[in-house]
Amino acid sequence: MSHRFSTLLLGAAVAAGIALPACNTEKASALENASPTSEAAATAMSGAAATAEAEQAATTAAPDPSSIPASKIASAAEILARPQVAILCYHQIRDWRAKDSKGAKDYIVPVAEFKKQMQMLADSGYHTILPDQLYAYLTTGAKLPEKPVMLTFDDTDLDQFTVAKPEMDKHGFKGVFFVMTVSLGRPNYMSKAQVKQLADEGHVIGSHTWDHHNVKKYQGEDWVTQIEKPTKTLQEITGKEIKYFAYPFGLWNKEAIPELKKRGMVSAFVLAEKRDEQDPLFTIRRIIASGYWSPKTLHNSMVQSFDGK
Ligand SMILES: [Zn+2]
Repeated sequence: MSHRFSTLLLGAAVAAGIALPACNTEKASALENASPTSEAAATAMSGAAATAEAEQAATTAAPDPSSIPASKIASAAEILARPQVAILCYHQIRDWRAKDSKGAKDYIVPVAEFKKQMQMLADSGYHTILPDQLYAYLTTGAKLPEKPVMLTFDDTDLDQFTVAKPEMDKHGFKGVFFVMTVSLGRPNYMSKAQVKQLADEGHVIGSHTWDHHNVKKYQGEDWVTQIEKPTKTLQEITGKEIKYFAYPFGLWNKEAIPELKKRGMVSAFVLAEKRDEQDPLFTIRRIIASGYWSPKTLHNSMVQSFDGK
């Protein structure tokens, strides 16, 4: 979908207040995977150790970015040299309707397809990770669980809560929800209570501006309207710091990065284009998981898009 088209599409959707596409098995498996040579060895592995191992692989174990001293943060070149983590971007999770355009269907994953995609990730041994883990990995080389993947959801669509979340719960997956605050509580969008529930359940809430305007066009007060106020709103709703940002339409420019840093963001997410040489943490790549993709195509895309730099 062209940027121009998606701008028009989303602008219309926001204006109309309708939803359109924009853009505790851990513990058991820790024991199973310990590969003891005998039953006795398995027993010898204390409950505490097994729990610690599982906790380490769990999605919440990561230092807060502010606790990482600047002296410990890798250079841009070092960050760019690390293998990329596959990051998927979802919008609507619902069955296609007759009026959905061909282009829109890239942004609408039918329910059965989403279930198959999640099942594929689980069956293939993927572990969902959250932004603090990714940040620690990129900045300090901290270990990630085996086969890490990040699931991100843009634009606040209600079905992310009613359809995607329950499906992710089945697999113990956690995700990142980039919320545009103008849509909170509107029909077909999530409510404040739902956003709070996501945060309470260990998902991460990030900012996706107030009303999805293109960051490249911000001037003066726009930074307050689009970034500062929505960040405050999301902090009030969740009781947590908001540190991660997704650019509307994936569009960014160099001027935006210091503005985001000034306002408390530690990383920002783009779409599939190249990362910035100076600021890779503010141009973390994602791919849109298309509604047309079979689980196999999704897997191939994950491997191909995040292989190399
Ligand atoms: Zn968006």
